[in-house]
Amino acid sequence: MTQGDVNKQELSTLGFSSKVYPKYKEIFSEAFQCFFDLLDKDFDEGLRCLMKYDEDSVYSYLRRELKVPKPYDIDETIAALEMTESATGLFRLSLVEAVMDAYTFMTDSQEWETIDYGMQRFPDAFRLVYEHEERNGLANVSIKYNHKVYKLEYKDNKVHVYWKENGESKNDIFDKVIVTCPLGVVRQWDLSGLDKNDEFYHKRRAIRELNYDKSAKVFLKFKTRFWETGSRPIVGGSSTTDLPLRTVVYPSCYFDNNIPVCNPAILLASYTWANDAEKFAPYSQKENAEICAENLKILHGRKVIEENLVHEEFSSIYWPNDPTTVGAFALFGPGQFSTLMYPMIKPMNNIHWAGEHTDIHHAWIVGAFNSAVRVVKEIMLCSNMKPQWDKLKTQEPLQNWHGHI
Ligand SMILES: Cc1cc2nc3c(=O)[nH]c(=O)nc-3n(C[C@H](O)[C@H](O)[C@H](O)COP(=O)(O)OP(=O)(O)OC[C@H]3O[C@@H](n4cnc5c(N)ncnc54)[C@H](O)[C@@H]3O)c2cc1C
Repeated sequence: MTQGDVNKQELSTLGFSSKVYPKYKEIFSEAFQCFFDLLDKDFDEGLRCLMKYDEDSVYSYLRRELKVPKPYDIDETIAALEMTESATGLFRLSLVEAVMDAYTFMTDSQEWETIDYGMQRFPDAFRLVYEHEERNGLANVSIKYNHKVYKLEYKDNKVHVYWKENGESKNDIFDKVIVTCPLGVVRQWDLSGLDKNDEFYHKRRAIRELNYDKSAKVFLKFKTRFWETGSRPIVGGSSTTDLPLRTVVYPSCYFDNNIPVCNPAILLASYTWANDAEKFAPYSQKENAEICAENLKILHGRKVIEENLVHEEFSSIYWPNDPTTVGAFALFGPGQFSTLMYPMIKPMNNIHWAGEHTDIHHAWIVGAFNSAVRVVKEIMLCSNMKPQWDKLKTQEPLQNWHGHI
């Protein structure tokens, strides 16, 4: 069963239940559009309205709001929506997350940009600037790579940071610290040297409870870009299916760079999230590659896959297994924005909290950028005067979550 431009006839031929409302995509878009319109008009006000639904999961909201005429079934319709528009299990998570994720992804004015040869070049470019400034005596920046922080302590109004360097424990003392590591990483740190108070209790609760999503990718290599040839060529874009691979992403970079179609190419044979990603977790990279190759035979035909697959070259990654991320990205559950967001980002003991999980735009780099703007403002505020977080919180509760950039 694969997703095309689904109309009534295709729905049954694709194997959906006859109880799925054929206009399910339209009513789904309409259900979210009211929030998009509010956010477009006035982002802060739109966010306030959206937060009124913080206790809703996508499922509970759709179940209440979608109007599905008889004889179609609301539950079957929502299940089809989750399968084709989202990932298995994601509709049990926060409505706010689903709306914000879609909003961040789909704004009308968006222009998509990629960085040739990979995103790593972005932070590397900053490193060159720092190194240049250091060489010319303009800045004193010391960046340590591959040093694993494992402990924070607060003593005499200073923060002690402990890390491992070539297996050895080291530490240093700082006036202020900004933690940008994902919460799954921080969860394993020793924080027992911070003040034991109510704030700390709630921060620990937030670090332990706030939900992260899962994600997996499986890459296969092929001798040619066979998918760009034949009677129904695919150039860029993606296909969605309910097979285990769930989403195939066809890279556009080869075509965009005039690389001949007969050259070898890497296909993102499977890109998954949530419970779909989890299913790849127990297996070796080779086993995952084999599952995806078998699924691709169903989608593209056995012969073309067998003729083109480069069996020895594959790769798969499951983000929760990466010790530097311990999850893919923040994706809160119902009620978590209201109860745990402030305790998580509230500075204490001269420690400030940034990173995509501290912003409203989770799972997008813009969230990390916004959090950087917010935390710089916060530090300036804390440095110039007594901490005024509570005052800020009551005056402009949501503006502290995101600094527009
Ligand atoms: C599969 C996937 C696809 C994505 N696709 C997109 C996309 O297309 N567009 C988009 O905008 N966003 C995308 N994102 C989201 C984007 O990657 C994140 O929003 C962004 O990287 C978050 O930045 P950050 O600085 O908050 O955290 P990170 O980028 O995770 O940085 C945290 C840093 O902390 C370091 N660290 C970890 N543990 C320790 C430790 N113990 N001691 C010291 N340092 C440590 C890590 O090495 C890392 O450098 C995607 C994310 C995933 C997982």
